[in-house]
Amino acid sequence: MSESYDAIIVGSGPNGLAAAVTLARAGLAVAVYERSAQFGGAAATAELTLPGYRHDVGSAVHPLALESWFFREFGLDRRVPFVVPEVSYAHPLDGGRAGLAWRDLSRAAEGLGVDGPAYERLMKPLVSHLRGVADFTGNALLRIPGDPLAAVFFGLRALEQGGPWWNTRFRDEVAPSMITGVSAHTILHQPSLAAGGAGLVLATYGHGRGWPIPVGGSQSIADAMIDDIRAHGGVLHAGVEVTSLDELPPARAVLLDTNPRTMIRLAGARMPSAYRRTLERFRYGGGVAKVDFALSEPVPWADPDVARSGTVHIGGTRAEIAAAENAVDRGQLPDAPYVLAAQPTLFDATRAPAGRHVLWAYTHVPAGSPADREEAVVRQIERFAPGFRDTVLASSSRTAVDIAAWNPNFPGGDISAGAPTLTQLLGRPVYSPDPWRTPMRGVYLCSSSASPGPGVHGLAGWQAALSVLRHEFGTRLRPGLAPRDDQLFTAAR
Ligand SMILES: Cc1cc2nc3c(=O)[nH]c(=O)nc-3n(C[C@H](O)[C@H](O)[C@H](O)COP(=O)(O)OP(=O)(O)OC[C@H]3O[C@@H](n4cnc5c(N)ncnc54)[C@H](O)[C@@H]3O)c2cc1C
Repeated sequence: MSESYDAIIVGSGPNGLAAAVTLARAGLAVAVYERSAQFGGAAATAELTLPGYRHDVGSAVHPLALESWFFREFGLDRRVPFVVPEVSYAHPLDGGRAGLAWRDLSRAAEGLGVDGPAYERLMKPLVSHLRGVADFTGNALLRIPGDPLAAVFFGLRALEQGGPWWNTRFRDEVAPSMITGVSAHTILHQPSLAAGGAGLVLATYGHGRGWPIPVGGSQSIADAMIDDIRAHGGVLHAGVEVTSLDELPPARAVLLDTNPRTMIRLAGARMPSAYRRTLERFRYGGGVAKVDFALSEPVPWADPDVARSGTVHIGGTRAEIAAAENAVDRGQLPDAPYVLAAQPTLFDATRAPAGRHVLWAYTHVPAGSPADREEAVVRQIERFAPGFRDTVLASSSRTAVDIAAWNPNFPGGDISAGAPTLTQLLGRPVYSPDPWRTPMRGVYLCSSSASPGPGVHGLAGWQAALSVLRHEFGTRLRPGLAPRDDQLFTAAR
């Protein structure tokens, strides 16, 4: 590490790469250091089971990507081909029926029988203000929203679906189960304001732009950013674990795509003790255990319409999923857990040999649990897809301990890199209009442990980079991020 740079980014997850793109586009000399042999952080794709079967190691489905300010400016959908299933997510229930989140809200409501009109009334104002909801919730700081009406609609509905009165609107089980299926992405107590709010945001995307799947896997998103960084003179180093800020080459700015715990370790005595004590109070949440499958055929869902969807929320009714999630919240392993599954090869044939499939699944577990949850996951899928077990050619199961060892941003397997509670979304990792900037000169936090929080949207990296430009390089100009012609995928040219 003998060179010198304008800016160094530690970590190549989507936020680290977004920061590097922004700074390289501003004409700065940028270097990225990544501990793993593969760039992309939790947006990486690899052969985890059999040769020719490509699995998303972390994120798989990208509701946040196309509406994020950063990716909109970056022109992600012109650089990476996405498929957007006509059903954003499916929610199988016993008896061979399923709730289907058709992108077309009216069609989704029609399928919900007696609760259809109530569901449509819940979602329609949010879907009509999609951009306002995206901008308000993608900017989880206490600021005046650009579309106040979107914020009001969203706030009232989050209060409803995040409180003990969450069932008052509904008479049947399917619609509320669907909402809890999306809210449970958060690994939080059910119901709670943050879980309800997150569920409504994801549902709004589901009935707006849909839940896109990148062709080739999440790695395609990381690779598009890596191509752009290199095209603008940036350099990336894989297999280099940074253990102290002091070992980095000279640079005006250092951006850490790490969690606060790692930042405390890397900064050592450089970090003011008051700031360190605040970061030590940052709480990490429950973990995940993940299972990837290579399949001989598509999952044999009892309701064949579930195959129209990229994502499947498994766990039964609202009451059952809430019970499973609340058991995890109490530190217990539920017998019948909530399982999130994605079936990308139904839409993207590039990821498996002809006629074969991959299935991506994870379930929530108490933080740091060493439990292998493959059997519990298979049992839950079998419940709604009898015969599933016979389609499994090979599998790869990772515990929460394995997830934490793979990526130290996720202590105990917490893939949010810090519990996404309401307080930790508003003050992430600290209450500040510029939470990416630290009191250490030139040192910034740019990961999902900073505002606006988890997901592949690149916003924490982008915001941290803009803060670096303002404070270290004295410019409020935002560099243009649009792709060059040779960075567009063929169909978009
Ligand atoms: C199993 C799983 C499923 C998910 N599913 C989805 C999904 O479907 N959709 C979605 O939007 N989001 C999903 N997420 C969340 C999403 O992937 C993360 O929120 C996002 O990747 C965070 O990006 P990041 O850049 O902040 O950090 P990360 O992606 O965690 O990247 C951080 C990088 O920094 C590196 N690093 C850390 N410390 C050091 C060091 N000291 N030296 C050098 N390098 C270091 C790490 O190796 C890693 O590569 C999922 C995550 C996981 C794990």
